[in-house]
Amino acid sequence: MKKITILIPAYHEAANLPALHRALSDIVASMEADGRRYDWEFLVVNDGSPDDTLGVARRLRETDPRVSVLSLTRNFGKENAMLAGMDYASGDCVVFIDADLQDPVSLIPQMIEAWEEGYDDVYGQRRTRGRESWLRKRLTLTYYNLLQRSTRINVLRNVGDFRLLDRRAVETMRNLRETQRYTKGLFSWIGYRKKALLFDRDDRAGGKSSFSLWSLFNLAIEGITGFTTAPLRFASVVGIIVSLVAFGYLMFVLAKTIFFGEVVRGYPTMLCVILFLGGCQLLCLGIIGEYIGRIFNETKRRPPYVADTFNGEKVTHQINS
Ligand code: UDP
Ligand code: MG
Repeated sequence: MKKITILIPAYHEAANLPALHRALSDIVASMEADGRRYDWEFLVVNDGSPDDTLGVARRLRETDPRVSVLSLTRNFGKENAMLAGMDYASGDCVVFIDADLQDPVSLIPQMIEAWEEGYDDVYGQRRTRGRESWLRKRLTLTYYNLLQRSTRINVLRNVGDFRLLDRRAVETMRNLRETQRYTKGLFSWIGYRKKALLFDRDDRAGGKSSFSLWSLFNLAIEGITGFTTAPLRFASVVGIIVSLVAFGYLMFVLAKTIFFGEVVRGYPTMLCVILFLGGCQLLCLGIIGEYIGRIFNETKRRPPYVADTFNGEKVTHQINS
């Protein structure tokens, strides 16, 4: 029998896990009623939650052997928690789902159907984004446009991490062990046969989103610097344009002095030019710095996460690559 792993990264989700478990059990039961039998694994990755997420997950495991619990030594972030989950998942395919019930569990049977048809990557695409501020909506939209234009890979709009990956796609993902991960981009990068399923995104069942605008901004920078060197090109282009303009202006000032004998009013122009150039230089340094920072982080070759316990047993050997 084929085995399906449901991978649930959980941070601060003690309130949502039981409901999610119930929803998953219902779906499995209804699939079994239709004669679609699989082995199941509900793999909860506790990403160093400060609340009782680990305790709740362990209690679920006591009553339901399908539940597996992987716990990390501290909070490593969702991206790394997902990689950890992929390392420990044992299914023939892996379904990634948020613990807060924002992704509709009811889509899972359809995803599995598509997988059985031969798709390696079946992703949920949001028709609507649920309740979000106007600013957040606009910003995400602009961001995707920008990313789309500057990279060759196709990072899809309104597609989250809710998806099903075939075993071989999971293995490919596991080989991408960069520490500053932008999983969404990696899903596109690996390629494979993809299929989109449309759904409406719900609001969070409980608690609040751990992604503030600021952390989304950081993730956005991660996405851009992780997948394209276009900003470096942009820095060069700004440099060229500014130099050309400066040269033109120099000619203009020279001509004025030579042909019309005008006295150059130095101070204000100087100040403007210096400030403008200073700004450009800082911007370009910042851009270069972003990439150097990435190089710095990758060269340390630290593992993306550290596992603490798996199904109650202490992890002594970290899986690495
Ligand atoms: N999450 C995680 N580690 C973190 C932050 C979030 O594993 O450091 C999990 C969280 O428990 C949830 C999923 O990632 O299952 C999505 O988080 P959230 O709902 O806060 O994000 P949003 O829905 O706003 O994108
Ligand atoms: Mg959420």
